[in-house]
Amino acid sequence: MRELQQPSEMLAWSREARASGRQIGFVPTMGYLHEGHLRLMDLAVEAADVVVSSIFVNPIQFGPKEDLGSYPRDLERDRSLAAQRHVDCLFVPPAEAMYPSTPLVCPTPGGLADHLCGARRPGHFQGVLTVVAKLFNIVEPDLAVFGRKDIQQALLIKRMVEDMSFPVKVLVAPTVREHDGVAMSSRNSYLSLEERAVAPLLSKGLEEAHKAFLAGVDRSEDLERLVRSAVSESPLIRLDYVEVVDPDTISPVQVGTDDSIVAVAALLGKARLIDNIILGRGVGSDERIHE
Ligand code: AMP
Repeated sequence: MRELQQPSEMLAWSREARASGRQIGFVPTMGYLHEGHLRLMDLAVEAADVVVSSIFVNPIQFGPKEDLGSYPRDLERDRSLAAQRHVDCLFVPPAEAMYPSTPLVCPTPGGLADHLCGARRPGHFQGVLTVVAKLFNIVEPDLAVFGRKDIQQALLIKRMVEDMSFPVKVLVAPTVREHDGVAMSSRNSYLSLEERAVAPLLSKGLEEAHKAFLAGVDRSEDLERLVRSAVSESPLIRLDYVEVVDPDTISPVQVGTDDSIVAVAALLGKARLIDNIILGRGVGSDERIHE
């Protein structure tokens, strides 16, 4: 596996791969890799001829009170995991190489960030879109893979690609969960044992909403109440939001349908956890890691 740090080297590597007729798959990450990231790499390996993955903790997507300073990092371990999953090139740029100066001209998420995390984390998605647009220009991938775990992010990136005519095919892979239903996340490493023990309440609440929907409950208010009630089983969890939203506009719907998204965010200790399901499919349609 090659490892590159400079955008100019990365672009040269990609252009050489393309010149030899190979399709480039790309998996951007912030590192501290887990099985959720690794499945995205597997998908890219299947769908493309060569795979680039990036590890970059993007400072401009963190709010001033968020966890940029404490975000977990372990490049040595990430390097070995990415190589095991057949990544051909790991791009690990220093922040100065990505942002020689503060970017002034950035893609904006428009109304797609008016709800869910977009409403709670001002500037977050502009930071995400900016780094993804830059990475697309540096890597020039044919296809890029994102996780459904961060559904609002994935939809925004799809929309940016469409609206700005990036020549990139965007694939969205299912959420990968631990054996007890907890969506895998680098931020789960913040949880104490006690906090980790109650983390499954988020996916439990989502699954209850899915089951109720199958049984005929479709008012968003009622579905959201089920999630709220599951999460309230532990005093350690502080619900940030639960909302049933339309998958295209990410705006709340009064009545859920098969393809509506039920999204939840909650604070648990130092971690802010997010999770979601497609209402008609539930947690069961996601991937689960066995012990
Ligand atoms: P991150 O390193 O958290 O920025 O995530 C990098 C990519 O991995 C994003 O496309 C995420 O949506 C995806 N991802 C993170 N966790 C999971 C998971 N549990 N299942 C599937 N994809 C994930």
